[in-house]
Amino acid sequence: MVEKQSGSEWSARRIAPEEIAKYQTDGRDFLDDAALEARLQPAPPPEPARVREIIAKARQIQTLDLDETALLLRVADPGLWDEMRQAAADIKHKVYDNRIVTFAPLYLSSRCVNDCGYCGLRSSNAGIARRTLTMDEIRAETEVLAGRIGHKRLVVVYGEHPQSDLDYMLNSIRTIYAVRVPARRGMGQIRRVNVNAAPLAIAELQALRDAGVGTFQVFQETYHHATYRQVHPAHTIKGDYSWRLYCMHRALEAGLDDVGLGALFGLYDWRFEVLGLTAHALELERALGIGPHTISFPRLEPAANTPLAQNSRWRVSDDDFEKVVILLRLAVPHAGLIVTARENPGMRRRLLPLGCTQTDASSQIGIGAYQESHGGQDDQRQQFMLGDTRTLDEVVRDLAGLGCITSFCTAGYRCGRTGRCIMDLLRSGAEGKFCKLNAVLTFKEWLDDFASPATQAVGAPLLQRELEEIRTQQPRIYPEFLTHYERICRGERDLYF
Ligand code: SF4
Repeated sequence: MVEKQSGSEWSARRIAPEEIAKYQTDGRDFLDDAALEARLQPAPPPEPARVREIIAKARQIQTLDLDETALLLRVADPGLWDEMRQAAADIKHKVYDNRIVTFAPLYLSSRCVNDCGYCGLRSSNAGIARRTLTMDEIRAETEVLAGRIGHKRLVVVYGEHPQSDLDYMLNSIRTIYAVRVPARRGMGQIRRVNVNAAPLAIAELQALRDAGVGTFQVFQETYHHATYRQVHPAHTIKGDYSWRLYCMHRALEAGLDDVGLGALFGLYDWRFEVLGLTAHALELERALGIGPHTISFPRLEPAANTPLAQNSRWRVSDDDFEKVVILLRLAVPHAGLIVTARENPGMRRRLLPLGCTQTDASSQIGIGAYQESHGGQDDQRQQFMLGDTRTLDEVVRDLAGLGCITSFCTAGYRCGRTGRCIMDLLRSGAEGKFCKLNAVLTFKEWLDDFASPATQAVGAPLLQRELEEIRTQQPRIYPEFLTHYERICRGERDLYF
């Protein structure tokens, strides 16, 4: 690919100051470090009655305010933590039932102009093999994901670089959506492309919206301004905290109304980051009337030639990480929570019942790795090392054994159930009813098209239980649902409510 302009020229034109200032108050970010730190100062444990009032509010699927979230952070009594753990699981079940949505990450480029201290792909890391996939290579990667593994939903990941600019993003998304691969009975295809990318300007975000992307993710990495400055050099684009912080404001203004927040846990105090994510969710609801559709909470993982990733003093223990998930589920109860293959299988099993709603599987994060690596990892080609390299088939079987149905549903986005609409549906529990139907239909599709005999054996009884639940709990829609289900059994595909 020919570079249209030099990297430095390109970088110098990326940030639009007026698309930051319009959202700030008196030139200041909504994220007030001192106000968050003040809430984390040592204080007596909260009264159990007050804790239970806050839990009750979360059970009503209402976003907690910062004082309420901070108060939960101060709980020391193990019995109250048990109550919070149970409430998190109950809220997840109320909003999302026993469904776990699955996806795969697809890294399209390892070139990046930024120099983030914790990242294996940072520009100063000479030990990384750099590559940007061509459209033919993207097509080939997608054929593996959609045709051999059976994924329906991807998160495509781009470094920030002129070779992976907006034109490249749009071309790659069109390329992915166009792929059709014969499967055992139906046709493998990617039905939803979510995007994880650098912050964009409003006009660029409108172009992504028009290309039919699902959720648009930009992770703030750390909400703590001083830490942000330490790990993101000031001369890089990413060194501008506010350009990144207000990207979701721009996305929502651009009509890209499914947005995903995230923080990289391990860069600073995990309690601060929980408050930062909550503050971000509250600010989006306040300013634009729409909260985040998803929240991600990746933990710092080892990366090639990247000492910070191993040596950070803020690394989060497993027990504290469990608290992160419980607190986020209570603080932003409508949001989907994504636990990824960064975590090992045991940790994923521990976290999923506490409120997680999405997870990835068969993940490869090396550039071109789905075609080339045959399941292995290569630290010279990837941003960090994964903790769980199990196949989608193994993960689906594991989840089925836990009583969870793996959903390949992409209907909400294609039926316009996004943004404020999806928030209202999630809060009322109505979305769960659509999703249950679509989860069962897509699970049946996947079992028929891609599952091994061992996974089919575990999945079939789960399907029967789900059918019976729909028959008894949604009797009015059951006949229409059953008609769809029987058509799927006969080989039709992509039927949804
Ligand atoms: S974290 Fe992202 S922006 Fe930073 S160096 Fe890595 S790929 Fe680039």
